[in-house]
Amino acid sequence: MGELHGIGAAVDQALCVGNGICVALAPEAFRLDQNMKAFVVDPEGESETSLIAAAEACPTQAIYLSVDGEALYP
Ligand code: SF4
Repeated sequence: MGELHGIGAAVDQALCVGNGICVALAPEAFRLDQNMKAFVVDPEGESETSLIAAAEACPTQAIYLSVDGEALYP
């Protein structure tokens, strides 16, 4: 999960309910697929602050963040 260098992000699509909050808060990092499930595009394209805001705002805690392979969120 995530990348070994820099900031990494992952979405558990089984938990995602497709409300798009993560896409609104960190549009470079997340998109919705045709099934209304979020997926990771480019976590490096967003600030750590925006990524954390998106992860915190996810109602189902479906977003996981890491820095250099270490858990950042949750
Ligand atoms: S905020 Fe959470 S539930 Fe909403 S689209 Fe993103 S990952 Fe899915």
